[in-house]
Amino acid sequence: RAKEHGRRQVEVFNPAMNAHLERRARLDACLRQALDRNELSLLYQPVIDLRSLEMTGVEALLRWHSPELGEIAPSEFIPLAEDSGLIVPIGEWAMRAVFAQAAEWQAIQAAQSAALHPGDVMRLPLRVALNVSARQLLWSDLANTVERALEATGVLPRRLEFELTESLLLQDSTTLARNIARLRAMGIELAIDDFGTGYASLSYLLRFPISTLKIDQSFIRRVPDDPDAMSIAEAIVAMSSALGLRCIAEGVETREQFDFLRMVDCDAIQGFLVASPLDARQISERLTTPNGGRVTIESGE
Ligand code: C2E
Ligand code: MG
Ligand code: MG
Ligand code: MG
Repeated sequence: RAKEHGRRQVEVFNPAMNAHLERRARLDACLRQALDRNELSLLYQPVIDLRSLEMTGVEALLRWHSPELGEIAPSEFIPLAEDSGLIVPIGEWAMRAVFAQAAEWQAIQAAQSAALHPGDVMRLPLRVALNVSARQLLWSDLANTVERALEATGVLPRRLEFELTESLLLQDSTTLARNIARLRAMGIELAIDDFGTGYASLSYLLRFPISTLKIDQSFIRRVPDDPDAMSIAEAIVAMSSALGLRCIAEGVETREQFDFLRMVDCDAIQGFLVASPLDARQISERLTTPNGGRVTIESGE
């Protein structure tokens, strides 16, 4: 790809490449206005505990609806925003919105526990996860911005988890190390997203105070047809437990995958089988249902 040979090399003679660059330029121009024009929103996908089947967390996922271009997937616009640096203001907006939402759920749950009667079951505090890109973590002002957002919203940092990628943690950067240390000192938890797809070095698990590993969906998708993928998923669960980390499997779509993950004693799952990304109001409704937002899994197929 041209990028690998330096950005200045322009492949003017390749029409497919041209179309691709044109779309990128168009997306980029629209994305620059998206924040001001209120085109971004957030959905929240439930994370379900495999023992209690309760919703113990949610992951915030960005959505972009452009009036000109329609619905654009984050897999398309996030990499673009990372390249252009727009991810910093977009990420800051998302952080504010997610912290404010998490504070609202915190207040709902505080009111619930204040009204508990003897014999009632205490619900776990909902953990709210937010994806944070490399560019944001290499930003020297990140920790101050997070601190301000915590103060402004009143959310407790231990209810929050930042999802980072493996490749980021392989970078040797003092800004990164400082940001991570400060986030942990505040009490924010850290997860490794898409675990198993980055690089083979696991040494960063020793260097950084990680709380959660999220098994990438590419392994889960191959359950139950690919024994090697199943072995890797099982090994990640075992390693998480040996290291005292929480383990979440992503992209769980079938009953077989659910049964397998239960059998190998994974902590929690996320996926269309139990819930797709929902809007904040739907999460609030689940929090206030009498069964504590517990999911029901159909038996058999
Ligand atoms: P991710 O963090 O690994 O998020 C999981 C993705 O899997 C989400 O895609 C989610 O909608 C999708 N998913 C959930 N359950 C299933 C399932 O059962 N099957 C399948 N096939 N997919 C499932 P989404 O929302 O399109 O997000 C894609 C990626 O974009 C995210 O991957 C994350 O890396 C990035 N992203 C999303 N929101 C943000 C954000 O606010 N900031 C940053 N930096 N990145 C974000
Ligand atoms: Mg994620
Ligand atoms: Mg992921
Ligand atoms: Mg992913």
